[in-house]
Amino acid sequence: MAKIYFIDVTNRDAVQASRIIMAKLQKTMLNLYLAEMGIHQSEFAFPYVKHERNYIKANLELKEQGSMGSLILEGWCRAIVGDVAESLPTGVRDFNLSISTSDQMIIHKFRGKLNREKVIAEMVEATSYAKKEGAKTLGVNAEDASRTDMGYLIEFAQAAKGAGADRIRYCDTVGYDTPMSIYERVKTLGERVRIPVELHCHNDLGLAVANSIAGAKGAIDGGVDAYINTSVNGVGERAGQADLLGCILALKFARDMDSYQIGHRINLEVAAKLAKYVSYAFGIPIPINQPGVGANVFAHEAGIHADGALKDRRNYELFDHEILGLDAEEPVPPRVITTGEFGGLAGFKHVYEKMGITFADNTEAQRILELVQVANAHTQKPLTDDELRFIANYPEQATKIFTLTL
Ligand SMILES: [Zn+2]
Repeated sequence: MAKIYFIDVTNRDAVQASRIIMAKLQKTMLNLYLAEMGIHQSEFAFPYVKHERNYIKANLELKEQGSMGSLILEGWCRAIVGDVAESLPTGVRDFNLSISTSDQMIIHKFRGKLNREKVIAEMVEATSYAKKEGAKTLGVNAEDASRTDMGYLIEFAQAAKGAGADRIRYCDTVGYDTPMSIYERVKTLGERVRIPVELHCHNDLGLAVANSIAGAKGAIDGGVDAYINTSVNGVGERAGQADLLGCILALKFARDMDSYQIGHRINLEVAAKLAKYVSYAFGIPIPINQPGVGANVFAHEAGIHADGALKDRRNYELFDHEILGLDAEEPVPPRVITTGEFGGLAGFKHVYEKMGITFADNTEAQRILELVQVANAHTQKPLTDDELRFIANYPEQATKIFTLTL
């Protein structure tokens, strides 16, 4: 039976959204956490954008060294040869190439520059080029697929498959689908084209997680693998997109989902740490009612609820907080000494010693301290213990990440 895989797009779709920003160090930490969680793929960069290059190279090095497990680091490009060509020198070899397919966008965005035939021709040219140049995995994104004529979408997907694409991304770009419509459309796509389908669902109408699950079910019932696109805490363009943890919880605990299997082992215990880190890095609080990790998800007060939860958790909870690593999460200690942008050697060494990290001599300590200062100048937020550990463990990659070049 076909399986479900997760492609997290926080490092591409969320960071491109208005007013939502992460530093390269924070993007790197996110990749490391996704790898620790066992996620299949991270859409981690725009490889044709110059200021992403050092970050990309450093992350590919970390991957090469074995620090990112089996996580695939994939770059997003427009489906044009130029973007792919500019991306290749970074070393990225896993791609998603995107082009709009709905008449709405072909007519009102391309405005005569492209028509349906030319959209397919451009996508085929970019896809064939990427494959010829050694792309290992490649997804083709049909932007606004949910508002695309079904016959044309099938034709587009067949052409993508013919050009060597491994997956087709069904983008519900403006969150237009319902669980019923996306199930039917994706099932048809799977049956007709026989190509794995990515579900990329936005939350404009509050349906992103439901649509992702229904779409994945459609792909599998249509006989092909499903790749759910997510972001951590659901952050993304406008009202966001499918929340990573929400989708995983739905697959694990929702009615009749147990026959649908995730194709990779997920370590859910990383979930709380990941959600809190991304909330911290973006400066976006986790809503009190966020599935899984919101402050009220395991809180009960109303008489009947509190009484019921005390008698048996399952009266009001589908799953236990321990599975998300919530117990392992310690509150941030009231640390007296911190290190950062203007820190000195003594305080720096004290902070690292408390984490069990010591340095061979003062020269080495001084070198790492300088990186810590730069890191803090770069993120403009107090550095977390994991960030400090990363800098001490991977000074070379850290140096790359902190260097932006044009
Ligand atoms: Zn999107």
